[in-house]
Amino acid sequence: MQIFKKKSTILIVDDSTANIRILSEILGKEYQIIFATTGVDALESAVTGTPDLILLDIMMPEMDGYEICSRLKSDSRTSDIPVIFITSLDKEQHETVGLELGGIDYITKPINPNLVRLRIRNHMELKILQDHYKNLSSKDGLTGLANRRHFDEFLDREWRRSLRSRSILSLILMDIDCFKPYNDHYGHTAGDDCLKRIASIMFGTMERSTDLIARYGGEEFVCVLPGTDTEGAKVLAEKLRKRVASLEIPHAYSQTGKGYVTISLGIASMTPSKEGRWSALIESADKKLYQAKKLGRDCVVG
Ligand code: GH3
Ligand code: MG
Ligand code: MG
Repeated sequence: MQIFKKKSTILIVDDSTANIRILSEILGKEYQIIFATTGVDALESAVTGTPDLILLDIMMPEMDGYEICSRLKSDSRTSDIPVIFITSLDKEQHETVGLELGGIDYITKPINPNLVRLRIRNHMELKILQDHYKNLSSKDGLTGLANRRHFDEFLDREWRRSLRSRSILSLILMDIDCFKPYNDHYGHTAGDDCLKRIASIMFGTMERSTDLIARYGGEEFVCVLPGTDTEGAKVLAEKLRKRVASLEIPHAYSQTGKGYVTISLGIASMTPSKEGRWSALIESADKKLYQAKKLGRDCVVG
């Protein structure tokens, strides 16, 4: 398994730089260390630094460790990062509070370096496995893009977020043109290669970290574009269409007569309402995609 390649990152949160130094000395060889001395910094670093594990002091001015932990656990971007409390508060009662707030373990000061190292190692191994399985369950095995399950969860989440912020959400549904004759003439393996190359160039065309591209089904792909209107979606859709065409993957049996593989694209945009459902967005994009096919394929309808 190729899952132990990258050096894992630990975020140490403590208002005392002396404590940070001690922990860094114990853990710095094995892990990449980032640190924060205030709650605000900690919450920011937990997002931007993408740590694998957080060591959190409880007694801190302004925002204490409990508060930081509950905020981390209620934010979907940071809720999966294991939090280990490190503190001189060794009463059982405190320990219970920490664990109830979602902390995974508790280490008391003064710390025993060997014990800390071994405990962190165990937690890190679990975290790496957790990431690995999460990755497996959300990625499409052939193309490496997000799979249908990930797409469903993502769209559901973004739909609700857009409902709260009253913002628009666009979707691009894409389908490879005449892919059945491609498979029939060039073989299923060539078909798979074609899917991989198209997925790869599409992935490379996406620019915003807030957008998602996924494999929707067999030879269908989908993009979710939060905060983007139809005009913006059209610009991206045209870019995707052109880049796929630019691969010029030979297809002598395509009805388009172009001689290479092309895609058709349908766009739908909506500002979610309480009564509405995200499935309506997909249905609408599907209708546009159907129109694109009727118009002769290798085109965008929005
Ligand atoms: P249209 O232009 O109207 O979309 O025609 P089409 O031939 O692309 O559409 P159709 O839905 O009839 O065929 C889709 C084909 O995609 C059929 C199936 O063999 C192929 N396909 C779906 N998934 C895979 C896959 O994972 N690998 C390969 N090689 N082929 C696939
Ligand atoms: Mg299809
Ligand atoms: Mg097709």
